[in-house]
Amino acid sequence: MQDFHYKALPINVYFGNGESKKTKSILAENGYSSVLVITTPEQKETGLNMAKQLGELVTDVYPHAVMHVPVSVADEAVEYATTKNIDCCLALGGGSTIGLAKAIALKTGIPIVAIPTTYAGSEMTTVYGLTENNLKKTGKDIKVLPKVVIYDPELSLTLPADISASSGMNAMAHAVEALYAQDKNPIISMMAVESIKALSQALPKIVKNSQDIEARKQATYGAWLAGICLGSVGMAIHHKLCHTLGGTYNLPHAQAHAITLAYSAHYNRNADIEAMDKLAQALGGQSHEQVGQLIYKLNQQLGIPLSLKEIGLPEDGPSEVARITCESPYYNPRSYERSELEALLQLAYQGLEPK
Ligand code: NAD
Repeated sequence: MQDFHYKALPINVYFGNGESKKTKSILAENGYSSVLVITTPEQKETGLNMAKQLGELVTDVYPHAVMHVPVSVADEAVEYATTKNIDCCLALGGGSTIGLAKAIALKTGIPIVAIPTTYAGSEMTTVYGLTENNLKKTGKDIKVLPKVVIYDPELSLTLPADISASSGMNAMAHAVEALYAQDKNPIISMMAVESIKALSQALPKIVKNSQDIEARKQATYGAWLAGICLGSVGMAIHHKLCHTLGGTYNLPHAQAHAITLAYSAHYNRNADIEAMDKLAQALGGQSHEQVGQLIYKLNQQLGIPLSLKEIGLPEDGPSEVARITCESPYYNPRSYERSELEALLQLAYQGLEPK
């Protein structure tokens, strides 16, 4: 075993069916009394219902979160939060909503209570992102880490089955890359394996029946663990590829992660054999050689898009993504081989099995 450094993130986590009904007492216990409820326009109703439950603790509902946190949206939200004199942002939604609360926290220091309703994992990280002129910049700051996270699987029942499946595979990508991270450690590796098992078992059940609350609970559990992985260790080639697919081609975040994961795992299959054997076993297989195919088959079973073409990558995308990735690489357990990467991205473009 290699030497390691492990630092736990200071977050108070509540987990359980119906747990969000305790939000009012949790906010009061933490001394918050002027709360801004943040949602996307699509989840405004959910925000208004939450505001009703919270009564006098709520100052307003702010339903203006959008994907990738444009700087203009963040600036308006910061101004609004400052003029309303709020003492807490309650982010009710997925990564986009939590992202807007993080942008407010970054500028103002206003603490966040997050109630995630997808499996993206942002609630467990100190990472924030802001987009200007089609360029997404990310950074890390402890100020943006939520103080409290309330996981209520019941809130994910309204997330459509196909989006749930992609979002769950987005979570799995964090756990997969944690297994071979540069700063990996035994605690996070255990969480990663547990997360991959939970997600790979729960997602097919959710696709069969989106109202299966036990499967929702298991997926939420897997997503929580994946979020801890993302917040605790560095990511590698897969996240670099997806940041390029999202940043340069504006491909939908969760779907791009879900499709690409099979190919990035395949690319790394022999790079960290111990980690990849663990991954294969967590997915119900045996050997590191199989990891790409196992993930590809899981995606097939989930009925989500299999090709990058289907979600909007243009024909010259594979070579461009390989070029950008190799020019500004993240850490990866094996070196970046541009032609091999491009060939794999060609298979991903067409949705063919990685080999
Ligand atoms: P999202 O937050 O954009 O949500 C997608 C859509 O689903 C939105 O319209 C939303 O309102 C809706 N939705 C969410 N939950 C729902 C529910 N339970 N029922 C019905 N509709 C629901 O998508 P996401 O994948 O959660 O987040 C993606 C964003 O998060 C990206 O910008 C990504 O970069 C960011 N992200 C950041 C981090 C980080 O650590 N900073 C981590 C993961 C993702």
